[in-house]
Amino acid sequence: MAGEPQSDCVFCKIVAGDIPATVVRKSEHTLAFRDLHPQAPTHILVIPHAHYPNAAALAAAEPAIAGELLAEAGAAAREEGLTDYRLIFNTGAGAGQTVFHAHVHLLGGKTLHEGLV
Ligand code: AMP
Ligand code: ZN
Repeated sequence: MAGEPQSDCVFCKIVAGDIPATVVRKSEHTLAFRDLHPQAPTHILVIPHAHYPNAAALAAAEPAIAGELLAEAGAAAREEGLTDYRLIFNTGAGAGQTVFHAHVHLLGGKTLHEGLV
């Protein structure tokens, strides 16, 4: 069923507490934790507790939670002292998505204006 935990999903396992993560924020429907392989001094992932394959699928099924995800990304940026940062939603393997549980990357702490990616 849409939104149900998937046994083969690493982010569902983090939500369940079955594998560890460095959690920085929790909200009613989201979790924010540090990326295992940071691409910038601040690299945080914000995910919904519920399993949806990508951000658009989350927004279509649960628009309020998609909004909560963005608000939490902004709050995490504030906590990190960032005024300038980038939010990225990779969608599909061809765009670099490797974990098929909706997530937004929060990247900041270094110069990010040199190109689109
Ligand atoms: P994406 O390529 O957009 O699907 O992003 C997935 C991100 O999840 C990558 O940046 C990985 O480094 C990160 N990642 C994968 N497994 C873990 C984990 N167990 N804890 C934290 N970050 C992870
Ligand atoms: Zn999942």
